[in-house]
Amino acid sequence: MTSSSVPPNTPRTLKTAKIKITTKCNRHCDFCIFAEGGQGENMPPDTFKQVLDRLALIPFQQLHINGGEPTVHRDFGTLSGLAREHFPKQVMVLGSNAITLARNQRLLDATVTYYDQVLIGCDEEHDNYDEVRAVVPVLRRAGKTVVINSVLEAIAPDRLGQLAALCDEYGAVHVTNHVHHVDVGQPANVLGGLCDRNVDRHLMIEVDGDCYRCFNAMAKNDSEFTVWDDDFAAKVFAPRRKHYDFCLKCHEYRDSGLQVVPALTRHTASV
Ligand code: SF4
Repeated sequence: MTSSSVPPNTPRTLKTAKIKITTKCNRHCDFCIFAEGGQGENMPPDTFKQVLDRLALIPFQQLHINGGEPTVHRDFGTLSGLAREHFPKQVMVLGSNAITLARNQRLLDATVTYYDQVLIGCDEEHDNYDEVRAVVPVLRRAGKTVVINSVLEAIAPDRLGQLAALCDEYGAVHVTNHVHHVDVGQPANVLGGLCDRNVDRHLMIEVDGDCYRCFNAMAKNDSEFTVWDDDFAAKVFAPRRKHYDFCLKCHEYRDSGLQVVPALTRHTASV
């Protein structure tokens, strides 16, 4: 199938829009390139509102609020409420390490009020086993989908077993992953066709409005446009003909066999 075989009026829907509301974090995981500890930057509420208005221009299924650690943003509750108000029908997903959620009832209440799903990174690097154990039962009792994600290079086998048991007990999902944002000396990928994950799948918006049609491609030169561009909505669904720089070292590369990714429109929209 080539891009020219896609019917001209095929509806385009993004699976996920992700807004990184802060680059601050309360942890310093070795493998993380997304956060800058306490030195990071918060997205101002006015900017966040404008980003929501821009997102209203495109169809998408899930809104992820992320960071850094999004709950350390001083306006986390207010921003979450605004997002829910803007997008009452979309699935709202919070990406968190759960540390502040376990220690601050107000933040936990805001999460229960506004979000449908909570994705929690949990391993030795996050060092948040106690907090995860405290928060998972509360979120599950409130009917939230909870996914615990552990980086295999950063967790001991007994900890993996304990997390799996916790998830079994409360009906949460446990997934594992490999470090994939960092060049850890692995050989470069042999890149054939474009990766099938970067069109009609994910849009990531950074604190400054830079956009990436992939959650992993974070080098500044991988940003193709900004949320402020007049033709932002068109650019989200525009053809992509180049690999991102990150694709060379990314564990998630999957050859679509295609040189122009929009050819996957109908396939990816159903994933
Ligand atoms: S290979 Fe990785 S960085 Fe490249 S598009 Fe796929 S998921 Fe994104």
